[in-house]
Amino acid sequence: MDKLEIQHIRTDFPILEEKVYNKDLIYFDNGATTQKPRCVVEKIEEGYYHLNANIHRGVHYLSQKATEAHEAARTTVADFLHAGKREEIIFTRGTTEAINLVATSFGEAFCHEGDEVIVSVMEHHSNIVPWQMLCERKGMKLRVIPMNEWGELDLDVFKSLLNEHTKIVSIAHVSNVLGTINPVSEIIRIAHAKNVPVLVDGAQAVPHIPVNVVELDADFYVFSGHKIYGPTGIGALYGKSDWLNAIPPYQGGGEMIATVTFEKTTYNELPFKFEAGTPDYIGSTALAEALRYVQNIGLDKIAAHEHELLIYCTEKLLEIDGMRIIGTAKEKSSVISFLVGNIHPYDLGMLLDKLGIAVRTGHHCAQPLIDSLEIPGTVRASFAFYNTKEEIDTFVTALKRVVTMLS
Ligand code: PMP
Repeated sequence: MDKLEIQHIRTDFPILEEKVYNKDLIYFDNGATTQKPRCVVEKIEEGYYHLNANIHRGVHYLSQKATEAHEAARTTVADFLHAGKREEIIFTRGTTEAINLVATSFGEAFCHEGDEVIVSVMEHHSNIVPWQMLCERKGMKLRVIPMNEWGELDLDVFKSLLNEHTKIVSIAHVSNVLGTINPVSEIIRIAHAKNVPVLVDGAQAVPHIPVNVVELDADFYVFSGHKIYGPTGIGALYGKSDWLNAIPPYQGGGEMIATVTFEKTTYNELPFKFEAGTPDYIGSTALAEALRYVQNIGLDKIAAHEHELLIYCTEKLLEIDGMRIIGTAKEKSSVISFLVGNIHPYDLGMLLDKLGIAVRTGHHCAQPLIDSLEIPGTVRASFAFYNTKEEIDTFVTALKRVVTMLS
């Protein structure tokens, strides 16, 4: 993307004009959440001002319009992930809820004492704890794929971990700490050869790289709307219909039922079986708007620009004495975690903030990974397509100043 195009795109994001401590905001915390383009915010406003009525149950005009919008949003998500069938898309509150749904419902149907779940050392807590809870409930074991010094998963160990007790593999597509793009296609192929299904945590992937769940042959694929320029509180689970039909509902309530008597309840068909209660039909339509926005720019173009930012920033950072970049995988997304000498990441983050630069510090909800690296945490800069090389220049100059102050 050229400068003019980025400048034009930036006008879609009013928050990028904000001042922080009288400085221009430089927002490099996109891994935590992304900013929202005007069209997404307007979609929410339009929803509440013109389209608000509870969906699915109403015969009246507004309810029908709201239902159509919500179901059209489902089709948009299905198309975005290249899912085979629109009923394979379940709206959730986000990645975390989607993983909990699968861990609970899949666990209920298919897991027993002595069974095993495989995750990797670089998982976010939301792709560890739900499986740990399942393991505690059922008396199962959690197995962990290690990584090499660059932050790439060891697939030989993965193969050796797969055995007749393995019930499911759950793996991040892209690490939120290291930026590593994991070879999920190969992981899925290896697991499927042993008849083991795979859930892919796409929270950090969908905003940056094109995803095709059918080509990947993922059994489950999950993501959060707020990380892809959509609203908070909405996300999606893609599941192959065979799996979704084979596992029990996650929550009970309205919408997920076919018939209810005090003696027995029968459940609704997909996708409604997994959507108990009033769904976030305003959020779903705003999420669809965000996906359209991203598609209009083009994910290939986004990936190319962000890769350029990644390379540019990495080179500049390496000019700093004592710079240690955590995560140097060959296949890497636009996330840079780093430490400088013995300076605590929190101190770096605090002083950068005073200069208007938003980065994240700490364990990034991946404590086991940080512990395995024997570091106190990292500073993480994560880029979006609206970020620029000029912002990186300002950031690196500021970082040099901060490092001098703290050394
Ligand atoms: N997985 C990964 C890789 C993430 O980066 C995040 C968010 N940081 C999550 C899961 C959890 O997403 P959410 O909080 O939106 O449910």
